[in-house]
Amino acid sequence: MSLIVSRRLTRLAAAGAATLLAASLTPLFAQAPRAAALPRPTLVVFFTIDQMIPDYFTRYGAQFTGGLRRLQRGGVLYVNGYHDHATTETAPGHASTMSGRFPMHTGIVRNNAGVNDRDHPLIGSSGVGASPFRFEGTTLTDWLIAADPRSRALSVSRKDRGAILPIGRSKQSVFWYALDGRFTTSTWYADTLPTWLQRFNARRLPQQFAGTEWTLLRAASTYAEKDSMPVESDGKNVTFPHPLPADTALALRAMPDDPRMDWLTLQAAMAGLDAMALGKGPATDVLAISLSTTDGIGHRYGPDSREIHDQILRLDRYMGEFLDSLYTVRDSSSIIIALTSDHGVQPYPELHFAGQPNATLRVDVNPVLSQAMRALAARGVDTTTALDFEYGMLFADSITFQRANVPMDSVLTSLAGGFRRVPGVARVDKVRDLARADTVRDAVARRWIHALPPSLNVVMVVSPKPYVYWAGVTYATHGSPNDRDARVPILFYGPGFARGVTRTRTVRVVDMAPTLAKRIGVTPTERLDGVALRDARRP
Ligand SMILES: [Zn+2]
Repeated sequence: MSLIVSRRLTRLAAAGAATLLAASLTPLFAQAPRAAALPRPTLVVFFTIDQMIPDYFTRYGAQFTGGLRRLQRGGVLYVNGYHDHATTETAPGHASTMSGRFPMHTGIVRNNAGVNDRDHPLIGSSGVGASPFRFEGTTLTDWLIAADPRSRALSVSRKDRGAILPIGRSKQSVFWYALDGRFTTSTWYADTLPTWLQRFNARRLPQQFAGTEWTLLRAASTYAEKDSMPVESDGKNVTFPHPLPADTALALRAMPDDPRMDWLTLQAAMAGLDAMALGKGPATDVLAISLSTTDGIGHRYGPDSREIHDQILRLDRYMGEFLDSLYTVRDSSSIIIALTSDHGVQPYPELHFAGQPNATLRVDVNPVLSQAMRALAARGVDTTTALDFEYGMLFADSITFQRANVPMDSVLTSLAGGFRRVPGVARVDKVRDLARADTVRDAVARRWIHALPPSLNVVMVVSPKPYVYWAGVTYATHGSPNDRDARVPILFYGPGFARGVTRTRTVRVVDMAPTLAKRIGVTPTERLDGVALRDARRP
């Protein structure tokens, strides 16, 4: 014991001497900053794991053997990363990841007004058209192209919004899964699919899964969670194994809730990387991959289920295989990797409030809203346009109120009083009052400010208490300004970034794009909401 201590002390003393020596030499090297020694990467790989929460690293980390283990052990992981905006949905989350800007500046506030676009139909598929036409401003891809027009981007996801929004408006190679089993894009980007993707689709990889089962990866005894919980999956198909339909068309539609959907997405990404020769230089290319199955399974079974546990383990394995392949075909010393999520998730209220029979599990503002609408109709207000309520946001059309000569503000004040009395409501804010909030301490007010572009006619916001869902939602979900919905992991990996470090200070997803830009050595072409994280770098 004493020997070990004394050896350690000797080492510390030696280290101290080295530090002193280095300090005395520093002025000689002041003209040679360290960063200059790092070559510009030829590839940035940006993973967005839909609905991933930092807890999964701590809960299941000991069972990781693949990509998540590699990234965690070899990179810098921030476990208190936040989407610092109130509408914690997929579209606004993806719009912030590589833009470094909040929804108030990207214009992407909610899924319902995300990428859906009837004017840009899908190629060879009847699904809903999609484009980034609502997205405002630029992303890392645009800054790279501004610095060197030879930079290219490939983005692949199960979801249209997951593929489109990380890239922004740029007409790059952006593909997502159509529920007929193929990956496609929309006419915003191209008139035909590239040959490599046609070949990939022709391999009919997802078709082979029809009639197969999702089984546990490990022995059942290594999962602490109960397999069957009464709240999950609306009480249907609650135990392993989970079969995919034998009918191929039905199986292809069910793929989004099967872990192998992430495997398929990674296969498509690798095929594209290969065909496009991404990351071979000379400029820095972007490979954005959004893996959506964690969200599908999280919604269906909840963040505390055996299903999500198995999904994360499988995700770890699939990502491991992907990184092994990537580092076989490309030089790892020229690749940097980032990982985050588009939003977090809150547990099922039934589980969170278990043993509290009087707790409010869901908040229902509809009776208050309906009563207000009836009163407005009686005063001659056109209620089809006057008010609209969606996920905590009250939209109001002042012209409609003026036409009926009804003062909007007094209506809103009485409506706010009604909302405040609804069990489960944490607070009600008029949007114009948010500007006076203490944005340092008041995270909910700050997140609402960050969520709302001035052009959006939202006049009032209603925030549910933590862990309380909106009425009518029977699946596990997210979307509120509360911490559990906003909190996500943020990770950087590769040359130039700290290794094997976990940081607990609070950082934001909007800090990721400026951090990557700084590391690559490109300058954002507009003002950002985020800042480069200095402690992400290797010390
Ligand atoms: Zn979701």
